[in-house]
Amino acid sequence: MRYVDEYRDPELAHGLTAEIRSLVAPGETVRVMEVCGGHTHAIYRHGLEELLPPEVELVHGPGCPVCVIPMGRVDDAIALAETGGLTLATFGDMLRVPGGRGSLLEAKARGADVRMVYSPLDALTLAGKEPGRHVAFLAIGFETTAPATAVTLLRARAEAVPNFSVFCNHVLIEPPLRAILETPGLRVDAFIGPGHVSSVIGTDAYRFICEEYRRPVVVSAFEPVDLLQSIAMILRQRAEGRCEVENQYTRVVRQEGNERALAAIAKTMEPREDFEWRGLGALPRSGLRIRDAFAAFDAERLFALPDARIEDPKACRCGDVLTGQLRPWECGVFGTACTPERPLGTCMVSSEGACAAFFSYGRLRRPREEASVGA
Ligand code: SF4
Repeated sequence: MRYVDEYRDPELAHGLTAEIRSLVAPGETVRVMEVCGGHTHAIYRHGLEELLPPEVELVHGPGCPVCVIPMGRVDDAIALAETGGLTLATFGDMLRVPGGRGSLLEAKARGADVRMVYSPLDALTLAGKEPGRHVAFLAIGFETTAPATAVTLLRARAEAVPNFSVFCNHVLIEPPLRAILETPGLRVDAFIGPGHVSSVIGTDAYRFICEEYRRPVVVSAFEPVDLLQSIAMILRQRAEGRCEVENQYTRVVRQEGNERALAAIAKTMEPREDFEWRGLGALPRSGLRIRDAFAAFDAERLFALPDARIEDPKACRCGDVLTGQLRPWECGVFGTACTPERPLGTCMVSSEGACAAFFSYGRLRRPREEASVGA
């Protein structure tokens, strides 16, 4: 297959749907967590849940990088943006993420110099064009985006750029998965592994899920046929009594990952003692910080940041959505006090957030349901 249409072929999709139906017993429930926000987006966008038998239930996971950023880190970014002579460069998604003091967009409206960029290298270029200002890049994301930040840090050091830094909020995928798997009473039977993260870390990184927690994993690509095939692969494992990490995304993902990308991360960043996650609390060694050798480019060392830990609003159930215990439409403020135009929680901001995806594609098709998918 070479073209995207082939991955959306209705005949292939219906064939896989029939196979999925044949692999479940009437009345049983198989709960499959798609870890990645990109998968959540594709599932709602293409209406894949409507194709599945009622025995297969999809549960959303923590893999949306914008969604997991806690309010305190947003406030730190706002404090940074309000520093005199400083420009904060950020991905567009982060502009509307609510913190305790509003969002970066609101800070920009108050006069802070916040600019949208498409990559950390864009931010470095900006620093070169405006030598009179300091440019700090707000780095977020899992292992997927960390290599680009790493390469930018290497270039900044090689070129001795004096007015550039990174506010590092990169996170790792394994700790939140372990936290979810340790949740008492969690009812998730298998995982659709993230595609983009896996292109960097490889498929071996998920072996602990099979070996320690006895749940099958299938790393998947993002088109409808890919996702249906991944679900069929999971069900086939169950039917055959296997519990393995399998790779559906063979056109991109390798078992060992991308060694050069991993080396760039390891050279420039190291795990923090702990990092606060929205909905999961502080998880040990789950976030990355900049290594001492690159201290001259570390915004957290160059500027005094509040480093506050702020409680989410009481009505916000993003934590439960991110851990698969609640569906978007089950949150009491979904579509009322929380909409993509005025998000209360992070899951309503990025297109990869489960609430934003369901608001955009799913809410008119499917009635609200009372039952929780959690324990
Ligand atoms: Fe969070 Fe809003 Fe979703 Fe509720 S509807 S879980 S507050 S993003």
